[in-house]
Formats: sequence, C-alpha cells, structure tokens
Amino acid sequence: MIVENNLFDSQMYKEVIKQYEGVADLINLDPNIRERLKLPQRSLVVTFPFRRDEYDEVETVVGYRVQHVLSMGPTKGGIRYSPDVNLGEVTALAILMSWKSAIVGLPYGGAKGGVAIDPNPLTRAEKQRVTRRYTAELIPIIGVNKDIPAPDLGTDEQTMAWIMDTYSNFVGYATPGIVTGKPASIGGSVTRKESTGRGAVAVGVAAMEKIGKTIKNSKVVVQGFGNVGRYAAMAAYEQGAKVIAVNDVDGSIINEKGINIPELFKYTSNNVSVNGFPGAEKLNESILEIDCDVLIPAAVGGVITSSNASKIKAKVLIEGANSPTTLNADKILRENGVLIIPDILANAGGITASYFEWVQNTQNYLWKEAELYEKLIDVMLTAFEEIWTISEKQNCDLRTAALIKGIKRVAAAKLTRGLFP
Ligand code: GLU
Repeated sequence: MIVENNLFDSQMYKEVIKQYEGVADLINLDPNIRERLKLPQRSLVVTFPFRRDEYDEVETVVGYRVQHVLSMGPTKGGIRYSPDVNLGEVTALAILMSWKSAIVGLPYGGAKGGVAIDPNPLTRAEKQRVTRRYTAELIPIIGVNKDIPAPDLGTDEQTMAWIMDTYSNFVGYATPGIVTGKPASIGGSVTRKESTGRGAVAVGVAAMEKIGKTIKNSKVVVQGFGNVGRYAAMAAYEQGAKVIAVNDVDGSIINEKGINIPELFKYTSNNVSVNGFPGAEKLNESILEIDCDVLIPAAVGGVITSSNASKIKAKVLIEGANSPTTLNADKILRENGVLIIPDILANAGGITASYFEWVQNTQNYLWKEAELYEKLIDVMLTAFEEIWTISEKQNCDLRTAALIKGIKRVAAAKLTRGLFP
C-alpha cells in the first residue's frame, strides 16, 4: 500500500519529493524502495519549556529530530534554530542528508533536527537553556552509534558543546562523539568549521575547469557570511578571485575591485555585521542579481525562485546553503546556461569533515590539519568527478547526476539488507 498522508507536508518536502521522483523514474527504482524512501523512518516531535532570563517568564517551543534511513550506519545531520522550522522542512532536509552522505560515500543515513525559534533575540544563557532542554528531550534517539547532530542554521560550535555536555552528564562520562562541529578543546576537529565553505569552492573550481573557466580574477558574490559563506569567500579570495559582494542578515556590501576578505574577517570578529566595513560600499539592490561570474548562496533556503532566477547574471552557481534554489528556478537557470553545483555535492564538505571528527572521537585518532584538508579535498573531488561522468553519460545536469549517485547507493543498501521480518 502506498502511504498517503500530509504529516510531512511543506513546500520544501514537496520539492524534495518531486526531485526524487524524477530521478526514481530515470533510474527505474524498485517500486517498494521508491515508496519507502519518501518517508523518514523515525521522527520525534517534542515541545518543551525554557526559562527566559526574567526568571518568572517561561516559553514553550516545538523541537524536532527526523531520521530518514537507518540502514547504513548511524544517522547524521545538523540542528537548526529558526522560526520557519517545521516537521516537513526538517524531513526534507533529512532526506537531502541521506543523498549527500551517500554521494561522498559516508557510512550514514540522513537526519536533521530543529527548534522553531528565532535564536537572534535570545541571550547566550537563554540559548544555552533551550539547547540543554532540547538535548534532554532527544536523549532516547541520539547516540554515538545512533544519531549524531551537528551545526546548521542558527547553531554553532558552542551549541554543540552544550549538547555534548548535556548528553555526557546523562550517560555519566565524556562523550565527544555525540556531536560534530564542536570546539577543538572538547574533541572538535580544527577544520570542521571551514570545511563546508572550502569544500564548496574546491568543487566549484573543478567544475569551472571542466568548462574552461578559472576562479582566478573571476568576480564572486557570496550571500551569507556565516560558517559557510565566510570560508567560501576566504577560499575564493585565496585562489585569486575578486569577491566583489557579500552580505549577512543586517545588510550587503560591494567593492567592484574586490573585498579584502582577511580584513573583513577581522572586522566581523565578535559577531559584528559586514555592514559598515570601511573597505566596501553599502549595496542596496539584491545581492543575487548583481553582475558576477560565480554566485554562492550560503544562507537560507528558497532564495532563488521563479521570480528572480531570470535576473541572475552569474554563469556558475555554487549552492553552499541547503535548497537555495526552487525546482522552477533551477529549470530557468539551466535554460539560461548557468552551471549549477548542487547543494548535496557543493556543501558535502561539512558532513565529510564531521565524519573525520567522529572517527577521531570514536577511535581516539588525532589527524593533523593538513591531513584533514587533504582527505577532505580528495573525497570532494572524487565525488565531483564521478558525478561529472554520470552527467556526461546520462546527458543530464549535475543535480540530477548527484541524485542518481546518492539514491542508487541508499537503495542498494536497503535492497542488500532485505526486509525485516
Ligand atoms: N548541517 C550540515 C549540512 O547540512 C552538516 C551536517 C553534519 O555535519 O552532520 O550538511
């Protein structure tokens, strides 16, 4: 029987399923597996209260953790704090994590979690209480060999440290492997924070080479200056690109001659916005639509839609964020000749670095920074070459090719294990 329900309904879920079904048709996916993979195996919805700094003020919020496929090892994926978080969105993102992890060959199924809250107005103490209580609610389903959270939108290294501490207090011993993306002082990998942005630029450069372009001297625009955007900007800058515009939630800046990214790093340390940086001017138009060679959306999802896709002038789009482009927009961009490096490939450096961190934690290894980068780039470029070959053989775009690779691997694991009981 085909499961029909609207439990996981959301715009993003619909898009992810539509995308999946197109590829399932293309590869003639086993019909039983096809239905199974549309739904997550486990979803936990929790509601919990936390205290505001004003002691008598208590707020109740909703949290989620969704595990898509449990057949290939523990599940893995980030935790986001955002007012838009809902079960459908978290499920869609968990499904994308399954494909992402499979295309870089990691022994994980996809997961995602989130709390429907805007983290920006919260004080540090409030954020800590939200995180600790949310973690306590997740205890039955997370674990070093069960499900390993990581940072995502609105969460960071410190959030991971609180999760690790809360979990460790529950089990009675220090458990670094319960999360990845934590600070180095408690077992975090020094390269994790930079890996998503740097990995995205590495595959972007490889893709540009295939079409006879180089990153050097090309004009790059980065939307978002968080964990992904800032290191993507830095990697592009280091390779001789002119990063002409960047932005964050407070505003956008532009300098046609190229922004000095190391200086911008200094300026934005201590959580200061890029707004007001003396080495650039304020940009008032949409950052996505300015004239450039490479556009890297590295903030929230759904920013490139059918209403702005035709105004995008970049020739190469590197999707640092998860799901920045809607399906309709993707079609418009491809018709306009834009080369798209899809999110599940472009931002897979994050989960790949997370994997290294988790292996170090569980096996008590210690790799040097240079070794970690070498391994990261090797994994990313191998996946890229395989996906490029698929796209040539099947005469399809890179997103379809990446999905073919990811879905086939997950389906093969499920078919090989067989059905219980
Ligand atoms: N949140 C990141 C992503 O969407 C990383 C997940 C991880 O490292 O487990 O890929």
